[in-house]
Amino acid sequence: MEDSGAMGERDYDVAIVGAGFAGMYLLHRLRGLGLRARVIEAGGDVGGTWYWNRYPGARCDIESMQYSYQFDDALQQEWCWSQRYAAQPEILQYAQHVADRYDLRRDIQFNTRIKSARYDEAASRWTLEAEVGATIAARFCVMATGCLSVANWPRIEGLKSFAGPTYHTALWPHEPIDFTGQRVAVIGTGSSAIQSIPLIAEQAAELFVFQRTPNYAIPAHNAPLDAEYVKDFKANYAQIRAEAKQTPPGIYGRFRQGKAMEVTPAERQAEYERRWADGGLAFMGSYGDLMFSQESNDTVADFVRAKIREIVEDPELAQTLCPGNIIGGKRLCVDTNYFATFNRDNVHLIDVREQPIEAITATGVRAHGRNFAVDALVIATGFDAMTGALTNIDIHGRDGDGLRQRWAAGPSSYLGLAMADFPNLFTVTGPGSPSVFTNMIPTIEQHVDWIADCIAYMRAHDYTVIEAEPDAQAAWWDHVQDVAAAGLKTSTDSWYLGANVEGKARVFMPYYGGFPDYCRKCEEVVAGGYAGFALR
Ligand code: FAD
Ligand code: NAP
Repeated sequence: MEDSGAMGERDYDVAIVGAGFAGMYLLHRLRGLGLRARVIEAGGDVGGTWYWNRYPGARCDIESMQYSYQFDDALQQEWCWSQRYAAQPEILQYAQHVADRYDLRRDIQFNTRIKSARYDEAASRWTLEAEVGATIAARFCVMATGCLSVANWPRIEGLKSFAGPTYHTALWPHEPIDFTGQRVAVIGTGSSAIQSIPLIAEQAAELFVFQRTPNYAIPAHNAPLDAEYVKDFKANYAQIRAEAKQTPPGIYGRFRQGKAMEVTPAERQAEYERRWADGGLAFMGSYGDLMFSQESNDTVADFVRAKIREIVEDPELAQTLCPGNIIGGKRLCVDTNYFATFNRDNVHLIDVREQPIEAITATGVRAHGRNFAVDALVIATGFDAMTGALTNIDIHGRDGDGLRQRWAAGPSSYLGLAMADFPNLFTVTGPGSPSVFTNMIPTIEQHVDWIADCIAYMRAHDYTVIEAEPDAQAAWWDHVQDVAAAGLKTSTDSWYLGANVEGKARVFMPYYGGFPDYCRKCEEVVAGGYAGFALR
């Protein structure tokens, strides 16, 4: 086994790939168990999502008082968020503070991308190889590689021929980019575009937005946090966190159970108005059936379309910005001045749904038979979500089949935590977990705690190998599909289905049964002596 020394001491109890919120907390937990763990991270520092996504306007869409760790009350009491939705630099600072506070960096190898992971059955160990040739061996391997960590580049002819700078929102440069006086093209109208477009528009001389599918966005009403509100929140943190765990998305807030059609149109309108005024993702918590009944979904989608028509002055432009699909099929966006930005004279919307972008040229974007000349290109086309970071690594388990081959027709996993034939390999927020439908830091904590507790249990009971059983995995995966099919989610092309990546298998990946049901299942598995897992 080669070791360049770059990955440090070469044999560990646990190798962790990724130093986002998942890898960081996992390292902390494993150290607490007295285990030797090493984290390997492609980026230059901790933070994951918040290290890479530095585009203008990047911020969380779950309120910062909740989008934060809860594993240490002292940490959540001492950290002060400045705004309702913190911006990327502040969230990155928070991750860096956590790394400092728990002295994490000494066990993290940065600027190192893992290219393969192989299980040696005789030795019951994983060997991970980095792109630069260093290797690391460990009894357990945990992929904390993120659900949204592999940039998706559009397959548009000539993309590489553009002579000016090309920026992908998910790989944004570290130094601020000044678009003042420039002509800029943004391709995409998902969350990243919706956050960045208003700010780019303020700087650019001309901004051309290429929209394939219009999106729903709810106002953030972002604002500095009120000191009294924070004091009160912190005084009640334990109770708030506990209540959050009882809601489907794991978010503290008003999530109502009733059906939209059981109340009068006037009551519905008043409820939507109240929630629009409050802002944020809780908007979709107005009624319990919005993602299960087309009729109910229509009422809330109509409400948002009416708002778009109110905000956007030009009726034709407003119509082009109005989504036609259900609301909530794609991930709901939370915006600051997105629709109003299209009232600016320097902002131009190009609808490329019927007539796709023809090519990128050296000087701009060719669409509708003309060249839109620009100085800079912003690619906001999202991610190879949920599976991309895992299939990017050549992972081989007990037999010869690699994960890539196994997942060629779509992923399958037991609880989003482990896969049959891949012993001692865990995934944090893998496909089949609620992950992207929840407030992810608490979800990550739940996964990490489950994994750490499992390793501790194995040690206490002299087990060295754990592996998901194929039947348990198949049953869980069927359940994941059944739950998704019961609602409206699967009716829309989305990255949840892999529909955003050309050639990717179309399979619904996250678990839509809600955080409480998922946690219950995880607890039952443990109570049953790790039911559905083979322990040796
Ligand atoms: P990541 O933060 O993605 O970290 C994974 C790390 O693994 C990365 O640093 C990556 O470099 C590393 N890695 C991957 N492959 C390799 C490899 N082969 N070798 C070495 N290192 C590797 N969620 C919410 O709940 N609320 C929000 O408001 C929210 N906002 C978001 C905004 C944006 C712009 C994006 C993109 C996502 C957002 N998310 C949000 C989801 C977000 O990804 C999670 O909340 C969370 O940060 C994920 O943490 P993680 O550690 O699981 O993964
Ligand atoms: P995304 O939601 O997948 O959006 C990508 C956009 O690019 C879509 O509008 C897509 O159109 C468009 N697109 C892709 N290929 C194209 C092509 N060839 N031509 C024209 N348009 C093309 O990606 P994202 O905006 O980066 O967001 C991904 C996820 O990250 C979010 O859903 C969210 O979970 C998270 N995120 C959160 C926040 C936040 O507010 N906190 C911010 C950013 C990201 P189609 O819809 O037609 O495919």
